[in-house]
Amino acid sequence: MTEKCGVVGVALDGRDAARPLYYALYALQHRGQESAGIVTHDGFQQHSHVDRGLVGDVFAEGDLEGLAGSAGIGHVRYPTAGSLDTSCAQPFSVSFKSGSLGLSHNGNLVNADEIRDELAALGHAFTSDGDTEVIAHDLARNLLEEDLVRAVKRTMGRIHGSYALTISHDDTVLGVRDPRGNRPLCIGRLDDGYILASESAAIDTLDGELVRDVRPGELVVLEEDGGGFDSYQLVEEDDTAHCFFEHVYFARPDSVIDDTLVYEARRELGRKLWDESGVETDVVMPVPDSGRAFASGYAEAAGETTPDGEPRPEDDDGVEFAEGLMKNRYVGRTFIMPTQDERERAVRLKLNPIKSTIEGKTVTVIDDSIVRGTTSTQLVQLLKDCGAEEVHVRIGAPEIVAPCYMGIDMATREELIAADKDTEEIREAIEADSLAYLSTDAVADVLETDRSDLCLGCVTGEYPYDIEGEETDREVSRPDVGGQTLRADD
Ligand code: SF4
Repeated sequence: MTEKCGVVGVALDGRDAARPLYYALYALQHRGQESAGIVTHDGFQQHSHVDRGLVGDVFAEGDLEGLAGSAGIGHVRYPTAGSLDTSCAQPFSVSFKSGSLGLSHNGNLVNADEIRDELAALGHAFTSDGDTEVIAHDLARNLLEEDLVRAVKRTMGRIHGSYALTISHDDTVLGVRDPRGNRPLCIGRLDDGYILASESAAIDTLDGELVRDVRPGELVVLEEDGGGFDSYQLVEEDDTAHCFFEHVYFARPDSVIDDTLVYEARRELGRKLWDESGVETDVVMPVPDSGRAFASGYAEAAGETTPDGEPRPEDDDGVEFAEGLMKNRYVGRTFIMPTQDERERAVRLKLNPIKSTIEGKTVTVIDDSIVRGTTSTQLVQLLKDCGAEEVHVRIGAPEIVAPCYMGIDMATREELIAADKDTEEIREAIEADSLAYLSTDAVADVLETDRSDLCLGCVTGEYPYDIEGEETDREVSRPDVGGQTLRADD
């Protein structure tokens, strides 16, 4: 599973924005490794440096010095919509009659093709096939007729899907979250300015203070002198559609989303996992690093109650938490291995078991998700080869049964092991002694929200946006902008 994009924007009092943006992008590197970029504005002109690669490789000292100006935006990208070349790297920047625009986008529009066709018919020339350029052109067109706030509102009324945006219009920096708040975006205060970022970890990196999340449907405009920000609630919906996988998988554990530290949410999900499907084994171990917080919560709950929910006797410590798998941090992520054979080899390269923790023991191994099943199968085999008597697998999220159209490249429906197999069939396929997932109700409980305020599309097959060929889980329809429509298999 790969994640799409981290965005950031800063407005400072006189100090150049490039270096803080660069550090913030470093903090968001986990959200995308395909390309990185910064766009700044010095009050007279826009400067841009965008390229493929990791943040540390994309920017040399001279590049940062060339990015003049105390206001700017940045982006790290993993591509899901648009092609794999620099034409889709971001921030997207363009100059037009009423100034210059820079755009960083996290998310995915589901009606980008309709709007692109309409704008192309009006004479707009597109240089990429990404949805971010569509937003940029639409906004540029609206800015010819409206002020900034009204232009953003008009564009928000036309685009449909998931978006957390940082935008620079000349030296004004703004942030926008889609009306259902699918992707995170938060506001932070720095000593000499303000920052907008996908995750609060970027604010921490700059010794800033988290102010709050940008609200779904809200436009935040940072004051040019870094003195504050203005808020405009441009669209209001009855419900939200926060991506629950941000809490489970994508976000850094040290980030705070919706007032909850992600690490604590994961530990709480682990506790629920014990309550719902705990199994007495000699040890419980995480798949590093993704399963660590879940396993720690699971083991803590196992020390308090038995699998039947009865209090533990005082002389019974429950299930021992152990690190039984060591991760080789210098191996790339498995998703860059294009064939199944290579992916299988990658699992073995990435994880090495600690024999003394495993041999002759019954083991519970905890992870955050099963996508194709390849990693889990390899893991179970690895633990059994190492002498585990039993291997029980517990997953801190529900089964992924359907693809994501909101910007997460998890796999096609055909590749998802849970798309056409039930839990028992998956257990058989990965050769575990038992397998259990967390329920969607438990996720909603831990996140202290209603199911109707979460996006659960990939685990229910019902989406909070109008995607042709797919079911919706609420009353929702895309804006009528004409042109062709996106189909589920596009
Ligand atoms: S479909 Fe899944 S991964 Fe995609 S936004 Fe919804 S919850 Fe997140």
